[in-house]
Amino acid sequence: MRVCGVRVCGVHTDVAIVGAGPAGARAAYVLARHGARVTLFDRSHPREKPCGGGVTGRALALVADTFDAADCAASVIRSARFIDSRRGQSAFVLLDGHGASAGSALLVASRATFDAALLAAAERAGAVLDRSRVVNVTVEASGACLETTGGRRRAAFVIGADGANSLVRRRVETAFRRDQLSIATGFFAHGVTSDEIVIELTSDPPGYIWSFPRPDHLAVGICAQADAGVTAEALRSRIAAWITATGIAGGGRLDPYSWPIPSLSARDFDSLDLTGPRWGLVGDAAGLVDPITREGIYFALASGQWIADALIAGGSMSVYGSRVRDEAGSELGRAARLKAGFFRPAFIGLMMRALQQSAGIRAVMADLVAGRQPYATLKWRLAKTLEVGLAWRALRSVRLKSV
Ligand SMILES: Cc1cc2nc3c(=O)[nH]c(=O)nc-3n(C[C@H](O)[C@H](O)[C@H](O)COP(=O)(O)OP(=O)(O)OC[C@H]3O[C@@H](n4cnc5c(N)ncnc54)[C@H](O)[C@@H]3O)c2cc1C
Repeated sequence: MRVCGVRVCGVHTDVAIVGAGPAGARAAYVLARHGARVTLFDRSHPREKPCGGGVTGRALALVADTFDAADCAASVIRSARFIDSRRGQSAFVLLDGHGASAGSALLVASRATFDAALLAAAERAGAVLDRSRVVNVTVEASGACLETTGGRRRAAFVIGADGANSLVRRRVETAFRRDQLSIATGFFAHGVTSDEIVIELTSDPPGYIWSFPRPDHLAVGICAQADAGVTAEALRSRIAAWITATGIAGGGRLDPYSWPIPSLSARDFDSLDLTGPRWGLVGDAAGLVDPITREGIYFALASGQWIADALIAGGSMSVYGSRVRDEAGSELGRAARLKAGFFRPAFIGLMMRALQQSAGIRAVMADLVAGRQPYATLKWRLAKTLEVGLAWRALRSVRLKSV
């Protein structure tokens, strides 16, 4: 479908973007650079967002035209340490020099400064930040009406970039169900840093515990599917015990956080409904997060870019919808199908052994961490790089054959 009045070459170009996180800021930057009149609504800046802050090589490549790591407080990550704290085992994966593409494999950024740098680029390109909160949105054939804490605003098109609890999503579509969310919880551990991320895969709850170092603190966390019957309090106790057992925070001050992350099923990814004639959803509001790694920043940036590209090209939202399905939905659907197997005790045990023994699988893991290894080719790459026996058992235990 074509959107009249939003053509970037025309005088009526007028886009309201609710939320100035990575998705909203990227859409605003691209649209404003092409001459669109763009207003970003968000009163939260400057702010830290509860997040690991892991920005993968592919995300950095996407914003290379506007973002310089020197503009934000970020740690360049050299290695990932996978641990099994109960068995006292660990395996090191060097991140630099493994991937096919050049550049950092992974930065861990303070979201306060990372998001501020993306927002500043959008403002430099001509987008206007309205520091108000949107409290209601109605979308009609002629455009969108936004009620904000600063008054009523109209726009020809509205982009919902307002995160996992998206108001725009609730108004134009439906809120995420509990089974479509995970709860992430943990602590910022102040006064400690590193150039290494630490990851522990767990089968209960299925997922992983992470410690991601920023320049002056660690973001330590765990997450579980919201309908898994584990409370945020239980997860926080688990992570507090892990911090004590590993000594990773070195006695630094701990600040708790909790936040939802969209974690859709394969069926959800097969039937994404992200657009209407006058609206589109991006980033977390669209549910575009890897259900295994919970990487969302790349998909937020990419979907912000794609919706802006579609509006610039004349406003066909079916172009945006197809691009999301082709470039994100199918990949994320594969991750969702793999998820149950990925965190089975049998796979976790094999994975630790393989990481310790095989340089090939360490290289695959380095590329997974950097967002360079698609799930579509994972089984072939594992089969090629692992010793035959180990590969066969790993593939069977995670049921990679069905992906
Ligand atoms: C604990 C945790 C750890 C994570 N770790 C990682 C990681 O290491 N790497 C990674 O890639 N991803 C990670 N993620 C996911 C990542 O944080 C998100 O996918 C990403 O922030 C999505 O970007 P976004 O722009 O869509 O939304 P957000 O970053 O959530 O931005 C939404 C913006 O909308 C604004 N907003 C909301 N409602 C309104 C309103 N009504 N009016 C105006 N403004 C509004 C908010 O203030 C906010 O600024 C993690 C998530 C969590 C919770």
